[in-house]
Amino acid sequence: MRSPIPDYLAEALQSVESDTTGATADYIPELADADPDLLAAAFCTEDGRLYSQGDVDVAFSIQSISKPFVYALALADRGFDEVLGKISVEPSGDAFNDMSLEEGTGRPRNPMINAGAIATHTLAGRRGADPKDRIERIIDGLSAFAGRPLDVDEAVYESEIATAYRNRALANMLRANGIIDEDPLIAVSGYTRQCSVRVTVEDLALMAATLANRGVNPRTGAPVVPAPAVRQTLSVMATCGMYDGAGDWMTRVGIPAKSGVSGGLIGALPGQAGLATFSPRLDDHGNSVRGVDLFQRFTSDMGMHLMEVPPPGPSVVRSRRVFGHGPLAVQVVSLQGSIRFAGAERILRDFEDDPPEQKRIAISLVRVGSVGDVARRMILEAIRRLTLDGHDLFLIDPDGVLPDPDPGDGGRVTVVGRREDIAGFVRK
Ligand code: GLU
Repeated sequence: MRSPIPDYLAEALQSVESDTTGATADYIPELADADPDLLAAAFCTEDGRLYSQGDVDVAFSIQSISKPFVYALALADRGFDEVLGKISVEPSGDAFNDMSLEEGTGRPRNPMINAGAIATHTLAGRRGADPKDRIERIIDGLSAFAGRPLDVDEAVYESEIATAYRNRALANMLRANGIIDEDPLIAVSGYTRQCSVRVTVEDLALMAATLANRGVNPRTGAPVVPAPAVRQTLSVMATCGMYDGAGDWMTRVGIPAKSGVSGGLIGALPGQAGLATFSPRLDDHGNSVRGVDLFQRFTSDMGMHLMEVPPPGPSVVRSRRVFGHGPLAVQVVSLQGSIRFAGAERILRDFEDDPPEQKRIAISLVRVGSVGDVARRMILEAIRRLTLDGHDLFLIDPDGVLPDPDPGDGGRVTVVGRREDIAGFVRK
C-alpha cells in the first residue's frame, strides 16, 4: 500500500496555493528578493519517517527558527541558572524586534524575540569560548538537530549585517544592562550568522522532530540536547514562538511553534512529530501567511492540538486473578499500557479499595510498555506498604520496564525476570 500522507500534504499545499496575500520581508534585501511563490511542507514522525511535498529542495536561511534550537543548546551548555539569569521566559506581546527589556531585571523578556535571541547566542558553547568557536558550536548543534552538516548562506549574512541597525541597537542595550559582556557588534555578527544557516523544509521537519523526540535525532539516533532542555524550549515556543500572535496561535493551532522571516515555520508535537512549512510571504506579525494556514489545516484535519487528549484508554489494571490454593495462593495483578501519574493512582486506589486477601501478590508488568518515573515511585511505595501489611510481593517484569525496583524502608519485592520463570512461578 502507498501511504496516503504524501497525497494529503499535496492536497493541503494545493488548497493554499492561490493565496498571494502578504509580502516577503523587506528589511533584509536578500530576503526581499526571494521567490514569493515557493511552497513546501514536511512531516517527520518521532521515529524518523519523513514525508514532504512541494519545493522541498529549495534551501533558505533559517532566520528566527534558529532561536529555539540555540536556546536548547545554551541550556545544555550553560545550565538553567545561567541562562534564566540572563533571559526571562514571559511572552512579550510585542513585535520580534521590540526594543524593551524587563523592568527591574533588565533581562530580555524571552529568548524568541531578537533581544533575547542575541543574548542566547552569547550563551551557547563553553564559557569564555572565542566567538569563532561559539558559532562553530552553534552550526554543529543545528546540524545535529537536522542530522546533516549545514552551512551559512554568506549572501544573506552580508545582506543582513549591512543593515542590522536595529539588532545592533538591541545588542548595545543588552551590553549597557550587563546582559552580555562582550563587544555588541561581535554578538550581532554571530547571531546574524546563526540566522543565515541554510536549511530545507525537510531539515526543519527533522529538527522539529528531534525536539518532539526528547532531544534525540530520530534518524541518526544522536542525543542532541537533554530532555529538560527540550521541555523548557517547547514551553517557551508554546508561549512566545509566534511573536505577538502567540496567544491566538496557541488557542487555534495548539502546537509549540516558531516562525522565521524567510518564510519557514516549524511545529513540534511532543511524542508525535515535527512539522515544517515554507512560503515566503509574511503577515503583519512576520509569520508566513500560507504557513499559518497550513498549520491550521494540519491541526484540524489531524487532531494535533496539544490540549486535545484522546478519550481515556482501558484501565491500567487489566485483571486481578488468583492462582493456587491455601497458603500458596497468589493474586496476580496484571497491568497494561504506559503508566504515568494517573495510571499509578488507579493502581494504588485499587489496592486500597479492594485489599488482596492472599499473602502472596504478584504485580505483572508483562503488558506494560513504559513506567514514568513518578509512576515507578508510586508503585514501589504501594509495594512497600503492602509488605508492611504482611504480604510477600513479586514483580513480573521480563523486559525491565521498572528499573531499580527497590521499595526501601521495610519494603521487599522479588523480581521474577525471565519469561520461562513466570509460568513456573504462577503455577507454584
Ligand atoms: N535575522 C532576523 C532578525 O534578526 C530574524 C528575524 C526573524 O526571523 O523573525 O531580524
